[in-house]
Amino acid sequence: MTFTSTPKTFHVAMDIRGGILKHAKNTKRLEGMFINRQTGVSLTGEEVLEMGRHFDAKGFEVVPPCDNHDSRGICQGHAVETEAK
Ligand SMILES: [Zn+2]
Repeated sequence: MTFTSTPKTFHVAMDIRGGILKHAKNTKRLEGMFINRQTGVSLTGEEVLEMGRHFDAKGFEVVPPCDNHDSRGICQGHAVETEAK
């Protein structure tokens, strides 16, 4: 067994079934839950549901929050930058 002392941060992620798909009949509850990273505009409830269905169809359990995720979509962590940016 190996241990590392490298500090990591982890992205939180939304549970697709518990957080999104269960509101399929009442998408108003999903409004404003996500924003479009490119435009900064809030997604409508219908858009959030569409995104949830898209990732669910790909076999993810959560909406992948970044590129460093496992097969369930869960963030695997990022080394913390120790140098000033
Ligand atoms: Zn991440």
